[in-house]
Amino acid sequence: MPKHKSNLTLEMIRRHVDALTFGRGREYAYAKHIAHARHAGDTLKADCFGSGENVYRVQVTVRDGEIVDADCSCPVGMDGDCSQTTVCAHVVALLLTFLEQPELFRDFEDLDVALERRGKEELVALIKQMLKQAPELEALLEIPLAKNKSTRVLNAETIRKQVRGHFKQSGYRWGTEGLIASAMDSILDLGDDYVANRDWRNATTVYHTVVDQVLEQFYQFHDESGALRMLVERGVNGLAECFSESVNEAMLRAETLRALFDVYQFDVEFGGIGLGDNVPEVISLDW
Ligand SMILES: [Zn+2]
Repeated sequence: MPKHKSNLTLEMIRRHVDALTFGRGREYAYAKHIAHARHAGDTLKADCFGSGENVYRVQVTVRDGEIVDADCSCPVGMDGDCSQTTVCAHVVALLLTFLEQPELFRDFEDLDVALERRGKEELVALIKQMLKQAPELEALLEIPLAKNKSTRVLNAETIRKQVRGHFKQSGYRWGTEGLIASAMDSILDLGDDYVANRDWRNATTVYHTVVDQVLEQFYQFHDESGALRMLVERGVNGLAECFSESVNEAMLRAETLRALFDVYQFDVEFGGIGLGDNVPEVISLDW
């Protein structure tokens, strides 16, 4: 997006943040914390190095000088506090970088369009190339696609490995919950895709495995941002849906029930932080 088309101004950015956040964003921008800057239509995307070793994925849509959407994988963005009205320092850094150096933003056509334009042979070559650079993604090939109700059964171990990989990558450092949560969200998205295709079996495997693994690691984090807690909540809601929809599948219902009960029990043992608050309701209503 050429700068003149966005009509973005410094004043506009200031209007969305307090002075402190603006100052931090400006520091990030000046210290060149913005990397892989690109734009597709009205949307600007980049990675932003935060404080410490955290890297956040930032995305913001600017139309006619107005911020119409903002999103960041940092705890502030994860809480949903990042919106048109309030944005985090990373979004500020992205916008300031765009104001100062629009030439850094490469034109990046919409991913779907870019992929759909390519033929099968080209896509296979592209995937091979990607796997060479990121061999850990090979595990994705074991995941049955949610598109059309899948006949393949998803192996829980595949999901478990991915979840553990994300925790391991985080190094269990303080404040990394936001990063873990954003990686884990994309795994839960897979669960939602299965739900959309009424594939309760595979959806349950995704939710159950993610919830299990997050609870297993819960003690290692302070989770001040509540990012891990939100992951569990998302998993519980997913399991609840699988439970109430898979009426004729006794085995599956037993598994979802067990998984929900485990969350509830964990919360009781943890001292009642409200992790499984909606579980009794789900269990008592949906028989
Ligand atoms: Zn942020």
